[in-house]
Amino acid sequence: MADDELAAALAEIRERHQRVHHGRGTVGSLLAVTEARNDVPRLLYAVETVLLLHAQTAHVAYTEPCAAHQFRRIGRLACRDCRKVERTGCQRCRDENGNPAKPEDCPERNVILAALTGEGERQ
Ligand SMILES: [Zn+2]
Ligand SMILES: [Zn+2]
Repeated sequence: MADDELAAALAEIRERHQRVHHGRGTVGSLLAVTEARNDVPRLLYAVETVLLLHAQTAHVAYTEPCAAHQFRRIGRLACRDCRKVERTGCQRCRDENGNPAKPEDCPERNVILAALTGEGERQ
């Protein structure tokens, strides 16, 4: 979807929302309520899709070498006894060390959380 198409879709949703609040109780606003009702699942789907892209998934943070690998310098650490230590983190965002970001360090998640809890509210 082109950016102008996206902007137009958002503008339509915003316009329907404004019609709900203007002229409360009139036929026009009741009609707008019905139309705007369909925006809720659309907006939820949009938010949920973005959150899915920033899902916390498990990844190997580091490998703890087994006894055999600890003292010998054998190429890669990849035997079955070497222990892979897993961490969870955002599958898109990285922290300052280049590791998958924790939930609180994922900017997209933080913006959505603030908006949904009313902390990032704007008119
Ligand atoms: Zn090993
Ligand atoms: Zn993220």
